[in-house]
Amino acid sequence: MGWQKRERGFNSKTGHAAVMGLSTGKVLDYTAKHKMCRSCDQAKKAGKQPNDPDCRKNHSGSSKSMEPLAAVELFNKVTKSNVKFSIYTGDDDSMTESHLKQKVPYGVEKWSDTVHIKRSLTTRLYNLSQRTNSQYNESLNNVVGSKNPKLHFYGGSESNDYRVSCSVSQVNLGYRYIPQTLASLNIEPGLFCVDHNTKMDMKSSKDKQRKSTVAFKRRRSQLHKHQISETSKNEGKEGTMYESGIGLNLNSSATTLELNNSELSITDLYDITAAVTKQQQEQYENAVPKYTSRPTVQKEKFDDSKFYHFVLFDIETNSTGKSAEVCQLAAVDRSGKQFSCYILPTRDIDSHASKVNKLTVKTVNGIRRLFKDNRQVEAFELSQVLR
Ligand SMILES: [Zn+2]
Repeated sequence: MGWQKRERGFNSKTGHAAVMGLSTGKVLDYTAKHKMCRSCDQAKKAGKQPNDPDCRKNHSGSSKSMEPLAAVELFNKVTKSNVKFSIYTGDDDSMTESHLKQKVPYGVEKWSDTVHIKRSLTTRLYNLSQRTNSQYNESLNNVVGSKNPKLHFYGGSESNDYRVSCSVSQVNLGYRYIPQTLASLNIEPGLFCVDHNTKMDMKSSKDKQRKSTVAFKRRRSQLHKHQISETSKNEGKEGTMYESGIGLNLNSSATTLELNNSELSITDLYDITAAVTKQQQEQYENAVPKYTSRPTVQKEKFDDSKFYHFVLFDIETNSTGKSAEVCQLAAVDRSGKQFSCYILPTRDIDSHASKVNKLTVKTVNGIRRLFKDNRQVEAFELSQVLR
């Protein structure tokens, strides 16, 4: 199912649904749903009785109900050709399955769609090796999207239906659907048209071949993993940057303290738009922490004539990201003078960090001790070490 609007089309006026073969990816049947009809709407606007022999409106419920209804329509229509669709794969967030069970005269088995399950578990995983997935579905939606861009609205007229039909033909036949359509209309396709379509077909079949190789899939998955790890690394460093309502900063403990202990609950705070006295507004403004700029180090150019005292240092931490604590601090200068100190972190050491630095925290006789290579070492507090 695809909609002509973003965000799963919860309010879309049109949608298209297709039944696709699990192993071939070919479209077996399709339908387009319209919630409105332009010519009828225009007639109503002009105060006339709508009289439209080519009315496109075929759906009156909500946009969300398009998917189950379209599925039931397609699964029932196929019985006329003495065929049945025995297995349905789809995501788990619509009522399509239960509608199919109730309204289709033959039994339909449901397979869960692996890609969608993974997306709902974590939006980041994307297993490319799965064959029974919705990539065919996405590929059809991409083609429809290219012919029926979401920026423009073609719903409510036959234009939308033609665009969906062309997309289905292109998925099933490739670009040669264009000369074939022309031929069946008794129009001889032009030289450039045939030439272009052959080229496009060759390009897409080459693309398909290239993308189906193991090397390509491996590379794509590597790139994807790399991107994910980079993103989570950055997110770890930056902390939460985007979250609904995060800019309001109303529920942090610091904020409530700073409101002169007036014990404002969240419900009080939601009323702020209703009636706010100037004094109250000042209170709210005071609650927002003052801006502190990030400290910057002055850049200095290297001067040959000057003597520099270089100190090399290294730290070990108990984890990565913003919450990491230092467990060991070591330094050496050019004279060979060395410094090394262990620091007892307030939280235990991450197992991944332990693997690297061989440091662990164990509790001996009720006291937390730092161990290196399973031997206890003398550890200090961070403030002591930095002094
Ligand atoms: Zn109409």
